[in-house]
Amino acid sequence: MSDASPAPDPGSPVAPELAAELDRIAAARTLLIALDFDGTLAPLVDDPDDSRALPAARTALDALAALPRTIVALVSGRSLESLARAGEAADDQPLVGSHGLEVRFGAGDARPAVDAADAARVAALRSRLEPVVAAVPGAWIEPKPAGLAVHSRRVADPGAVRALVESVHVAAAEVDDALTVRDGRDVVEFAVRDATKGDGLRALVERLAPDAVLFAGDDVTDEDALAALGPGDLGIKVGEAESVARARVPDVEAMAAALEHLLRSRERFSGGAR
Ligand SMILES: [Mg+2]
Repeated sequence: MSDASPAPDPGSPVAPELAAELDRIAAARTLLIALDFDGTLAPLVDDPDDSRALPAARTALDALAALPRTIVALVSGRSLESLARAGEAADDQPLVGSHGLEVRFGAGDARPAVDAADAARVAALRSRLEPVVAAVPGAWIEPKPAGLAVHSRRVADPGAVRALVESVHVAAAEVDDALTVRDGRDVVEFAVRDATKGDGLRALVERLAPDAVLFAGDDVTDEDALAALGPGDLGIKVGEAESVARARVPDVEAMAAALEHLLRSRERFSGGAR
């Protein structure tokens, strides 16, 4: 058996097809392991603040990140700040937050969510909406990386909520007709820029220049990142839903087992390459 193909690991709980894929990317000279957090590394919980990676996943990722030319990044819909906290990220760990709008390449090395022109659009939007929202008791504005959200959860009168939603739509369209608008439950979000996890992953790949990428995710928004992978990369879907991913695991526990397998495989490769 040559150095380029490690012996199969008979003790691995990972399915043989996935094990073979993991062994293949474990041989990459520089490997980027970019992973969604909630539902992929961390079981889904009611309060996002309580969310933490499974200890087995955490331990495997820490050990992987300590190997030579092995980069572990997190890619999430959470804000960068929330992702760094829940993900217990090292200060220099690459992170993609807000579905690709916020990208941190390393310590003190972040790409701003918006450029100066877009920041001016956000400021203009905010000054137009502030008096509209201030006129409705209970309503408030939350700043977002590339825009803002108008919240109406604490507005008691349903009629006042409807009037507020209508007013902010009209006012926002007056000041900027190129906004992305999302109506949610008790919230309307306005953004001057839209991005996907695919955009965020591409930014990491461009900067970090890995020879292969592993991406894993459980949600619809992860499909953009999975679709951004090249033929030599590996995408893993966590769960049963439809996906473009080449490989699949049923749940976060199986994902942690896959990472443990990847660690053992990469340790065998990097043992002689340090
Ligand atoms: Mg997720």
